[in-house]
Order: sequence, then C-alpha cells, then structure tokens
Amino acid sequence: MLNLVLFGPPGAGKGTQSAKLLEKYGLHHISTGDMFRGHIKQQTELGQQVSQIIADGKLVPDSITIAMLEEEIKNNPQAKGFIFDGFPRTVAQAEALDDSLKSIGSEITGVIALDVDEAELTQRIAKRQEISGRADDAADKLTKRIEEYFNKTIKVLPFYEKQGKLTKVSGVGSIDGIFNELTQVIDNY
Ligand code: ADP
Repeated sequence: MLNLVLFGPPGAGKGTQSAKLLEKYGLHHISTGDMFRGHIKQQTELGQQVSQIIADGKLVPDSITIAMLEEEIKNNPQAKGFIFDGFPRTVAQAEALDDSLKSIGSEITGVIALDVDEAELTQRIAKRQEISGRADDAADKLTKRIEEYFNKTIKVLPFYEKQGKLTKVSGVGSIDGIFNELTQVIDNY
C-alpha cells in the first residue's frame, strides 16, 4: 500500500494537491475537514457535536476525530492506499493512525510537509473565503486555526522525522510545479 500524509498549515494547498495526487496514484482520499463538513451539512449527531468547535477554528477533540478516521479506514478494505489530508493534527492522532494501519498490516509510507509562510497563508485564505464562504476562513477564526497549527499540529513533524519519514516541499509556486515536486518524492519511495 502507498499511504501518504500531506501535511501543512491551513491554506498550504493540501486539498488542491491531494485531488491531483489521488487521481495519479489511485489512492483513497481521507480529509477529516471534508468529512466533518459533510456531517455538519447532513446534520448528523457528529455534525452537531463538532459544528461550533469548527466554526471557532479550534481542533475537534482527538477521541471524536480518531474514531471517525478509524471507521473510514475500516470501511475501505479495497483501497490501494490512502492519502491523509488534515490528519493527523496531534501526536495522539499520529499514534492512533500508526496503530490503525498496523491492524490492516500496513504503515505510513511517507509524510510530505508543504512549507508556506504565514503572510502568504493569510492572503490565500482571505481570497478563498470570498469563494468558499467557509465561516472558519473569516480573519479572527483563521488566526485561531493558525494558532492551533503552531501550538499543537507542528509537534507531529518531529514524530515523523524521528521515523525518517518526513520530507519538506515548498508550497509556494505554481500548482503544477509543486505537484511535480511531490510526485518526485513519491516516486522515490
Ligand atoms: P484547513 O486545512 O484549511 O485548516 P480543514 O478542512 O483540514 O481545513 O479543517 C477544518 C477544521 O476541521 C479545522 O479547523 C478543525 O476544526 C477541524 N479538523 C479537521 N481535521 C481535524 C483533525 N485531524 N483534528 C482535529 N480537528 C480537525
């Protein structure tokens, strides 16, 4: 299996690059952000539990996020591999992901971190909000999301670095240029 984690701060381009990667490599895309938004839209019980947390730009508690992810892995036994987008965002999530993949006889192949500086991120999301209308893209909520990233999520990087699984790629440039860089990393696994 080819199991990739696409890592990076809000607005780094994870969603855009994931869409291209899953087409090229035939992977199953797991975006926890998209899954949560789906639940909110369908007004499921889970959606009701998380909607305020997400609107505030905070991280959803690990217990909820991990349970949702484990179910998604279990429900896709035919997958050639997974691309994880927006997960793991905490070290506890990274550990749970290792366990979950182990239980199906697999592991993370590699983690690619998209590097984008904070000024560029703020600019990109301001633009995105005009199109997406996502409440959590509003300036004050975005500040909270970036804060959560630098307080909690960034700690996931040394977790994978220690395992020798981390590669950093610049997330600034053309979409196709960045995609090419990513495919070069993946084709070397
Ligand atoms: P972005 O990468 O632009 O911040 P996402 O779509 O990945 O957006 O996530 C949107 C929101 O969903 C996050 O701000 C957070 O509230 C919640 N969320 C998504 N994934 C996770 C996760 N792995 N752990 C906790 N919360 C999450």
